[in-house]
Amino acid sequence: MVNCRDHVCWGAADPNHHPHELLVRRLSATYARAERPAISGISFSIHCGHTLAIMGPNGAGKSTLLNVLAGIMPPDEGEVLWDGHPLHNTRREVAWLPQRSEMDLSFPITVRELVEMGRYPALGAWGSMGEHDVNMVNKALHTLEIDSLQRRQIAELSGGQLQRAFLARALAQEAHILLLDEPFTGLDAPGAHSLGLLLGELAHEGRLVIASYHDISNASQYFDSVLLLHCEQRAYGRSAETLAPQNINRAYGAVGL
Ligand code: ADP
Ligand code: MG
Repeated sequence: MVNCRDHVCWGAADPNHHPHELLVRRLSATYARAERPAISGISFSIHCGHTLAIMGPNGAGKSTLLNVLAGIMPPDEGEVLWDGHPLHNTRREVAWLPQRSEMDLSFPITVRELVEMGRYPALGAWGSMGEHDVNMVNKALHTLEIDSLQRRQIAELSGGQLQRAFLARALAQEAHILLLDEPFTGLDAPGAHSLGLLLGELAHEGRLVIASYHDISNASQYFDSVLLLHCEQRAYGRSAETLAPQNINRAYGAVGL
């Protein structure tokens, strides 16, 4: 188990580097005109330095949960606390990677320009990029090994390169919490494996990585913890125990077996 005392917390203002806690209490959220909540009764706690997979069948509420955590959708009930304070007060701590189908890839923008967008929240209304901003963009491009692609248009990237470009934007933001919706979609097996290892490294440096994920067979290889969802929370805990057959059955029914 990784502890923030043992490593550097990116973006952490706290010089003591204590492990930051994300505490989610009795969260529920309902779409306008929907009869029932898309998610309800979600409660869990996790510290930075960890990877968490949100798992469940299609329509289970994975994207909804990530959207509520990201502050894009308001909850009807419950609260999301980051170190005891409402997470929406510290939005810059959170980087959100939307599901691929939600991304506008026709927008004419280079990889570097995309990654620079990660710095915008820190710049203020008329701010221009300073030395620190440029350094963070370079570091993010380097970490994701996409330096050589920085002048390419995003529309010209492969699926794996595109995921790396969006992850680099999240890193450039110096966010503490990465919320990634279906980051493995469209990747071949080697690409998925290298992304899985990368997420572990990003968490090891002190971030909290939360991603929706589908592959029950290898989730415990890449994620420390798993939350099994089917509108309601069906199980939560360390990956191997949470993915016990009776829990999978509770979330997926016969489909997951
Ligand atoms: P998942 O990401 O696990 O596939 P979602 O969070 O996208 O699930 O969806 C959860 C539920 O909310 C589903 O029943 C879905 O039909 C519904 N839903 C998702 N987005 C909307 C929306 N924009 N408006 C109304 N209902 C939605
Ligand atoms: Mg989804």
